[in-house]
Amino acid sequence: MIYLDNNATTPIDERVLEAMMPFLTTQFANASSSHKFGQFTNEAVKKAREQIADLINAYPNEIIFTSGATESINIFLQGVAIKNQDKGKHIITLQTEHKAVLDTCRYLENFGFEVSYLPVDNEGILDIKVLENAIRKDTILVCAMWGNNEIGTLQPIAEIANKTAEKNILFFTDATQVYGKINIDVNAHEIDALCFSGHKIYAPKGIGALYLRQGVKIPALTYGGGHEKGMRSGTLNVAGIVGLGKASELAKKEMKENENKIKTLRDTLEKALLQIPDTSINGSIKHRLFNTTNICFKDVDSDALIAALEDIAVSNGSACTAHLIEPSHVLRSIGLDDKQAFESIRFSLGKYNTIEEIETSFSLIQKIVKNFREML
Ligand SMILES: *Cc1c(COP(=O)(O)O)cnc(C)c1O
Repeated sequence: MIYLDNNATTPIDERVLEAMMPFLTTQFANASSSHKFGQFTNEAVKKAREQIADLINAYPNEIIFTSGATESINIFLQGVAIKNQDKGKHIITLQTEHKAVLDTCRYLENFGFEVSYLPVDNEGILDIKVLENAIRKDTILVCAMWGNNEIGTLQPIAEIANKTAEKNILFFTDATQVYGKINIDVNAHEIDALCFSGHKIYAPKGIGALYLRQGVKIPALTYGGGHEKGMRSGTLNVAGIVGLGKASELAKKEMKENENKIKTLRDTLEKALLQIPDTSINGSIKHRLFNTTNICFKDVDSDALIAALEDIAVSNGSACTAHLIEPSHVLRSIGLDDKQAFESIRFSLGKYNTIEEIETSFSLIQKIVKNFREML
């Protein structure tokens, strides 16, 4: 397999697995138990919290462990809505958000919340003036993703955060695609909350976190033993937490190295693909994640191309919605028509890709695209 679908999920780094192993075998004690075995696992959780906080310049007690970004998004968005409904019932988000945000917002609409789904420009970027015009007296939250999972477009997070701080509105960003890839400083940007998932940064699936700034109060969605400051009851997933901690430490240490390597591979692939006639890049070229390229192959059905690629894993649309036969909402939002959206493929690279894989992939894609077009 040549795996070029790292925005959907990543393999586990061996060093992460190694750090987790004791907690999947001999060190299985409940981190809430007061015996010395529980204290040992509790110490491991504490260390992971520090490793994670360190990566985004947060305090360890601002990290709430969850099952992943989707759960973090639900806890925060629903929590803010419940907590602030007397203050206002207006929420602002973007048309290009992940379904986890869009569907949570749609759910909140059932309870009288009004949601503005702001348009973005043809590169996928939010214009700050559009945001400014959308803010109302009853706006309680702005929710804007940092890096887009489909096209890689990066939002002007600092500007958005400045605007929401100025207006005294909470700001949440879905940082799932940027966490561990670029420098995040929650204090430099006045971010109130953000989310991420372990499995996008070489840790396992089913573990993630919510960063919640000290002083931001929201009710819990799950009740029970009062874990995670009462925000998320349920016995801690110690092995997953240790894995997320280790992956965060490695991401910080190797961030530049990974970026240099992956960006070179992405640029090589992209340059080659663009030499195929009638191809174009979707989204921003300048403000973009270094591992992602989304390419439109005119007159080539992306499902057929994916099937023909067999042992090469790429994607169209986000994996969560791939079973729905509808064009990517992100590509539609940046101005592609349905036909163009169905002809687009996302290549998302990771630290285990090699130049040989890129060369093999390119040759094969070039051949298949040519064949497909000859059959037209
Ligand atoms: C993957 C992803 C999510 C969802 O993460 P889960 O681990 O499936 O909960 C949310 N937002 C973005 C931008 C993602 O890439």
